[in-house]
Amino acid sequence: MKAARWHNARDIRVEEVEEPKAGKGKVKIKVEWAGICGSDLHEYAAGPIFVPVQEPHPVSKDVAPIIMGHEFSGQVVEVGEGVTKVKVGDPVVVEPILRCGECPACKKGKYNLCESLGFHGLSGGGGGFSEYTVVDEHMVHKMPEGLSYEQGALVEPAAVALHAVRLSKIKPGDKAAVFGTGPIGLLVIEALKAAGTSEIYAVEVSKERLQKAKELGATSVINPIEEDPVQKLHELTDGGVDVAFEVTGIPAVLQQAIDSTAFEGETVIVSIWEKEAGIQPNNIVLKERNVKGIIAYRDIFPAVMELMKRGYFQAEKLVTKRIKLNDIVAEGFETLIKEKDQVKILVKPE
Ligand SMILES: [Zn+2]
Ligand SMILES: [Zn+2]
Repeated sequence: MKAARWHNARDIRVEEVEEPKAGKGKVKIKVEWAGICGSDLHEYAAGPIFVPVQEPHPVSKDVAPIIMGHEFSGQVVEVGEGVTKVKVGDPVVVEPILRCGECPACKKGKYNLCESLGFHGLSGGGGGFSEYTVVDEHMVHKMPEGLSYEQGALVEPAAVALHAVRLSKIKPGDKAAVFGTGPIGLLVIEALKAAGTSEIYAVEVSKERLQKAKELGATSVINPIEEDPVQKLHELTDGGVDVAFEVTGIPAVLQQAIDSTAFEGETVIVSIWEKEAGIQPNNIVLKERNVKGIIAYRDIFPAVMELMKRGYFQAEKLVTKRIKLNDIVAEGFETLIKEKDQVKILVKPE
């Protein structure tokens, strides 16, 4: 079968690999649609980050070259011995987290905080940029009737956004700021809308992305090239937002996000960082503010799909391009690097 494998930074190849079989407790899926994510782009442009290159990943036991793609939907085509959660023909989405099952976090059910955290499609063991893939039974979620496969490919990134909003202190009627409106920032805006946030301020340098933020529910937009976002947010909210979401990974923006909150305000860091980000701790201390991080998601895929049924996180608004697996480098990765008005590019593995 055909699959896109990461060999090195700037070296992702679509090549012929062996088709996997569903062993005991495993589910084989024919991939329908798979989304290209910001972390895929990082692996392509400046990896390896999550891709195991020196030693095999402790859970997948796999090492580069590895098949990429962790945001995908598909149809069950084979189930291994003992599988009861799904049957052949079921439409499913895959929750791609790899966890050890034995560390303190795993034992408490907080599997996204696993010491050996990895992702199917980033850390080995197969992925969605491939005609077929095989995953553990616990990783599949049957899609409810009425959701398309395209919609299914958006469940994973929407889960990140919904987890971030659920773990924040936001309450209906509160005010929030979202710094950075790439795909995850846009989904955070939608999750905030679902949470009943009264004012949602999007802070972003790209005009195209600010426009998209408005379409998806931002009540106001601020371009930090034109005005100081901290000052502007304090003016607009009479003292600062209740919660700020940092979704850029740019060091200077972290301080801005913290400073844009009110006293006792909260900053949620959603980004993954390439380097250190200096902040002035007094700005947290003197206002009794909070800063917290979130990673991925846990126990939330079914809730995301319920919200999709109610019209949130819609593929029609978020998918800006559909391509074939053969074109993934030129029409996928390269396009995302060049065109800032792209949101989500979906790949059809055929
Ligand atoms: Zn992702
Ligand atoms: Zn663990």
